[in-house]
Amino acid sequence: MKNIYAITLNQLEEYFNSNSEKKFKASQVFDWLYKKRVTTFEEMTNLKKELINELKETFNIYKLEIIDKRIDEDVVKYLFRLKDNNKIEAVLMKHNYGNSLCVSTQVGCNMGCAFCESGRLKKVRNLEVDEMVLQILQIEGDLNIRISHVVLMGIGEPFDNYDNVISFIDIINSNKGIDLGSRHITISTCGIIPKIKEFINNGKQVNLAISLHAPNDELRNKIMPINKIYNLKELIQVIKEYITKTNRRVTFEYIMLKNINDSEKEALELSKLLKGINCYVNLIPYNETSHIEFKKSSMDTILKFYDILKKNNINVTIRREFGSNVKAACGQLRSLYEEE
Ligand code: SAH
Repeated sequence: MKNIYAITLNQLEEYFNSNSEKKFKASQVFDWLYKKRVTTFEEMTNLKKELINELKETFNIYKLEIIDKRIDEDVVKYLFRLKDNNKIEAVLMKHNYGNSLCVSTQVGCNMGCAFCESGRLKKVRNLEVDEMVLQILQIEGDLNIRISHVVLMGIGEPFDNYDNVISFIDIINSNKGIDLGSRHITISTCGIIPKIKEFINNGKQVNLAISLHAPNDELRNKIMPINKIYNLKELIQVIKEYITKTNRRVTFEYIMLKNINDSEKEALELSKLLKGINCYVNLIPYNETSHIEFKKSSMDTILKFYDILKKNNINVTIRREFGSNVKAACGQLRSLYEEE
């Protein structure tokens, strides 16, 4: 039986239709789940008893288990236990513009990026739709806050779990559901080109971020194995297509790794690669982890890199550092927990 939090509004409408019920009942159920936030079918008091029983026979309704929570000034990091005992993380960041949640999309990850903690554990499975939706609902409930922005930058590669991620976005974006604006939702991918193409044609207006991290194939092959399958030329090509078709700006994420990708040479190469593309570059101070030997670039190096991009008319920002005290980089809290 599926958890009710995995069902999109359309699917629920179809379900009621096929049971000769009025389809507006779906909106009523959504209202109970996502506006009033009840946690049992019995509490949906404007539904008839028979209908409640029918829902109970068709769907489960349950939450995840919060097993760890670490609080820093402006970050709260959560560890959840799933029904099958797997563990996932989500990180809440308090910005001046609102609360942003970094959501996981898989248990583990198969992309194998050299600098990333998540990839140390191979993918165990994709997250179900409800397991993504509940990260938002339960953290909102636990902290008694509203989350205004969602980024799919936790553990996992969203485009390696495409269908579930799209249904998840449907639910959180729906005005009958969690009602987060498309512009407040960001998918981040390491560059799975066929899925980027599918995403372009899907027409969703959510933001797209690309984990770039290197300005040439030689270096990118070394730190991101996905580049051996989909190289930079093809990646840039599909991004141009995305921009033309959607008229939207793309974000390129670029982790600053000491003596790996942070020299003047790479800054110039990157400027050349992105010249004329409607994008901005987000320079990310690397969050060091005890298992991986990469080091973070000094702030001085990051600022020099930034200046070179600026001089070459590339829109660029430096990401504010969050939560190194609470192991905020993807996969770090889970690793720590396994060790303890
Ligand atoms: N798989 C997706 C989304 C998850 S990773 C992707 O590759 O985009 C989200 C972002 O965090 C990526 O840009 C990733 O490269 C970056 N990241 C991974 N480990 C990091 C670390 N230790 N410090 C800073 N950023 C990291």
